[in-house]
Amino acid sequence: MLNTNTPEVRFALETARAASKLVAEVQAQMVTSALTKDDKSPVTVADYSAQALVGYLLDRTFPNDPLVGEEDSASLRDDKNRQSLEKIVRFVGKYADGATNDTVCKWIDRGSAESGKRYWTVDPIDGTKGFLRGDQYAIALALVTNGQVQVGALGCPNLNIQYLLSDDNTAFKPGSGSIVLAVRGQGTWAAPLNGGDFARLKVSTRKDPSQARMLRSLEEAHTNVGQIGELVTTLNVQADPVGMDSQAKYAVLAAGKGDVLVRLISAKMPDYKEKIWDQGAGSIVVEEAGGRITDLHGRALDFTAGRTLAQNRGILASNGALHEAVLKGLATIGA
Ligand code: AMP
Ligand code: MG
Repeated sequence: MLNTNTPEVRFALETARAASKLVAEVQAQMVTSALTKDDKSPVTVADYSAQALVGYLLDRTFPNDPLVGEEDSASLRDDKNRQSLEKIVRFVGKYADGATNDTVCKWIDRGSAESGKRYWTVDPIDGTKGFLRGDQYAIALALVTNGQVQVGALGCPNLNIQYLLSDDNTAFKPGSGSIVLAVRGQGTWAAPLNGGDFARLKVSTRKDPSQARMLRSLEEAHTNVGQIGELVTTLNVQADPVGMDSQAKYAVLAAGKGDVLVRLISAKMPDYKEKIWDQGAGSIVVEEAGGRITDLHGRALDFTAGRTLAQNRGILASNGALHEAVLKGLATIGA
């Protein structure tokens, strides 16, 4: 059963919910049809605001815990970002006491730690492209101790809770977003983002690779489209893929609405290393729903090597039943 009453789980849940509310508010106010394609200011404001809020809340709850977060305040202190910083201070100030230019930058820089014996990791907006398109994005927060993720929370403001919990297959229809919470040994659970009961998530039982629904990034630069094609051919996959931004894909896998997620290495960035904040929460969400997550060679993810998964190459997450078959397929195509 799920116990949300330990300090760590309570913190993960409340913080992911508060940060999700903040960024959804920024999206509603700033992502409008008047936005030009090159204007990244909404994501700048939302990203930094959310990390600042997490830093602020962590200071109050676990002041000695390090935070491995995606952002730092260096560029925000630049004069050309003054307007964004002012907006950030205003948004954060709705949720935090004492928000000023200085304190907000300090809270953001809480996130520049390296991985250690016990730390939190946050991606304040995972799937920034999805955020700007009005599609899927996630606020991802996790606690890691001794190299093992213990708690993971994914706030997914645009991932409909009915889609996750029922046979309804419309991920994007308006309605309540989702919060997905995984606790080591206690399972993966989902609830309406703004409050309500938790229901347990379970991965699918599909074993036949030809029936595997592949969860894919929408951004081609984040994967290797050619190799995905080769994998699909090698495994004779017939099922339709599910394309989506962010760690929302892990929630969908955990809920049994997709079966396999691969992060292959882009030919343009052959040395790319996955980031800790991109995998912490998502990995426990998959594992506690009964799935499996490794790198492309079947190795366990190593959350102790700095700020990236420096010892790993790419990611394979699955419902477990399909894992070995996909690993074999990956070896066949030389991924
Ligand atoms: P997705 O939403 O699946 O497109 O993945 C989003 C994540 O991809 C971001 O959080 C980035 O950290 C990460 N990312 C950025 N560049 C790359 C890359 N070249 N290869 C793999 N992932 C990347
Ligand atoms: Mg990310």
